[in-house]
Parts: sequence; structure tokens; C-alpha cells
Amino acid sequence: MLSLEEARERMLACLKPLGAERVAVAEATGRFLAEPILSPIDLPQFDNSAMDGYALRAADVAKAGPDSPVALKLLGAAPAGEVFVGTVPSGTCVRLFTGSPLPAGADAVVMQEDTRVDATRAGEIEVLDPVKPWENVRLRGEDVKQGTKVANPGDRITATRAGLLAALGISSVMVRRRPVVALLATGSELLEAGQPAQGGKIFESNRVTLAPLVKQAGSVGRVFPLVRDSLEETRRALSLAFAESDAVITTGGVSVGELDFVKGAFEQLGGALEFWKVSIRPGKPFVFGRLGEKFLFGLPGNPVSSVVTFLLLVRPALLRWQGAEQVELPSHPGPLAEPLANTGDRRHFMRVMTDEQGAVRAAAGQASHLLGSLAVANGLVDVPPKTILAAGTTVKVLRIEE
Ligand code: AMP
Ligand code: MG
Repeated sequence: MLSLEEARERMLACLKPLGAERVAVAEATGRFLAEPILSPIDLPQFDNSAMDGYALRAADVAKAGPDSPVALKLLGAAPAGEVFVGTVPSGTCVRLFTGSPLPAGADAVVMQEDTRVDATRAGEIEVLDPVKPWENVRLRGEDVKQGTKVANPGDRITATRAGLLAALGISSVMVRRRPVVALLATGSELLEAGQPAQGGKIFESNRVTLAPLVKQAGSVGRVFPLVRDSLEETRRALSLAFAESDAVITTGGVSVGELDFVKGAFEQLGGALEFWKVSIRPGKPFVFGRLGEKFLFGLPGNPVSSVVTFLLLVRPALLRWQGAEQVELPSHPGPLAEPLANTGDRRHFMRVMTDEQGAVRAAAGQASHLLGSLAVANGLVDVPPKTILAAGTTVKVLRIEE
């Protein structure tokens, strides 16, 4: 049986980055860059005022004070978005607003609060405080210099990174194509939520859980109809799903039960099974297979197992496929508020809750059919086999995003 790390390595090694496409920056959040981004401009593009005030020469007001105001001749104004054409010689100033370009000749801005307008002296202002050279001036290029690399291939476009690109005047970027991922749930016991209850049947929940997780992993999830436990039906469903997607996620039907048809059906379609067991709990029966350039991720049917195997195995694959470097779940360290015990002989990824103070405790029951504890959990902790982690131990909490 493969370790989690071996399984992950083997999957990632199979994945060549998907093709790239040009997308508007406004549409690109959540996507992964396929190109480095060099700044085409200096940011700020020009020296400008950090304050509402007056552009002047610092040397002119070096001796200014509340009791020794320095009078300067007001030459004009540059509202934001406009340029004051002309220079600021000694003894003069120009009215500026936050973001107004600094006129030539000026080397500082005195803020409005440090000035006074004397009604009897039209066309002049009085400066009541000295300013240092370049005080209240945002310098050209101090944020980003032209030609600087601001993002690397594989970086995810977050809201704030999209904002930076827009501020640099960049309207579109090359990003990796999003993989289309089909979601299939197998099991003759499954009913759609909303159907009338029937003896022996249960409401299907895996596709609804996995669809948003697929989306968070930058991919496009497509929900397919329920698949009953028969080789023929499983093969037909897989065939349809592969025709319309880059990868297929199935749940159920991958253990060693007589009615577990996913592996057989996949092989009949020409798929090659790369491996189908990983030494973790929950989630031992996990199938990874390849059909040409497409992939099968066969998850166990138990709802908790399907989520855990998705997060630990499928999510990294989907991210790497899009070129992402960082494919680990986000994590934070936290102290255990109570012991966490794994009496079994496989690593147990236990569902935990981190409270407001950062303390970590088990989220109720840990059996892999318990959806209630999964719903309240916000993280997983990797507890080694036959190990009790004592209260107070600092553990690494792998975060489950909302
Ligand atoms: P299997 O992996 O097919 O042996 O299923 C393991 C357990 O998970 C069984 O109790 C199934 O009824 C349950 N199960 C399988 N698929 C789903 C699903 N899509 N939604 C909810 N429960 C499921
Ligand atoms: Mg089943």
C-alpha cells in the first residue's frame, strides 16, 4: 500500500500542465498564471501628492512657524487627474489634492492644515510649518519599478493581485485552462435529495460536497446523474463523463465488495490503473487511473472518506495540473485542548475544530460515515498510527476552507 506522499508524488508526476489561454484580469481571479508578469510602468507613474495641500520648495519654508508664517504666491491648482503646466519657482506654490501630479520645480507638499489663507492678501497663502524635501510626496516608481517581476508562473490570481495588475494597466493575462471535472456518485442505494425516502436507500451527498471543493481548487465541476451498481451502467456513465471532461471523480464502488465496479469499468474503457490503495484513514480505497491525457480519481463512498481523499489527493493534483507550485492545504499550528488518539495502524486524518482562541479539539465522532462531525470540523490533524497526542501538544491543522 502506498504512503500518502508516494501516492501524491505518483499523481503529480503524471500531470503535465494544462494549456494556457488569455483571460481578462477582471475574470482571472482564482486562476493560475502561465507567464511571468513584468511591470510595464513605474508605479506610481509620476511623483504625486500624498495630501491635500500645496506644492512648494522646501527651502522656502525652512523657517516657517505659527508665529513666523511664510507667504507664498499661489500660481494655480492641479485637481486630481490634471497636470499643472509650468514650474514652481522659489516663493510660489500650487494648490494640489491627494494624487495630483507634483509640478516641476516643487520638491515637497505642505499639508493644508499647516497653512492659512489671509483674506486680505488675495493670491497668497501662508505656510505655518516647515516641510522636509520630498515630504508628502509619493515618488515615481517607489511601489513598483518598471520591469520588475510582480508575479511568477503558477501564482494564483487573488483579488489583491488582480488589483495590482489593473493598477499597472494590464488588462489580460495568460492563465492555465481550468480542468473540467465530472462528478459521479455510484451506488444503487442512492437517492437524490428531494426524492421520497425509500426503504434501504439513502440520500446522496458526495457530489454536492465535492462540487464546491472542486471549484475552490480552480476547476469546473460538472455533476452527472447517479450511477447504479452494475458493470454496464458504470462503464456507460464513465464513458459519457470522460467524453465531456478532463477528469472524472467517482465516489463509491472502489473497495473489494462484489458490487464495486469502478475499476473494472474503467479498465474496459481502456483506462490504466496507476494505484488503488493509500495507507490513510479515512480513505484507504482510493483509485488513480489514467485514460490518455485524462484522469480518474476514484474516491471511497463514505462521505468523510471522499472529502478527506479529495483534500489530500485530488486537490493537489487539480492545482498542480493548473501549474500551481503550492498544492498543500493551508495550515496553522495550534495547541490541542484535549488528547487526540489514533489506536489504528494507519495514519488517521482526524476532524478537528479550532476555536476563536486557536485551541484545537476533535470534532465529535471520527467514524467515516459521520457527516455531523464533518460539517462542524474546520480542519484535519494527521495523527500517526498507534499514537496519543497529549493535550497541550502543538499540532499542524490542515484547514478545510468554508
Ligand atoms: P462504497 O464505497 O460504495 O462501499 O460505500 C461506502 C459507504 O458510503 C456506504 O455506506 C454507502 O452507502 C455510502 N455512500 C456511498 N456513496 C455515497 C454518496 N454518494 N452519498 C452518501 N453516502 C454514500
Ligand atoms: Mg457502493
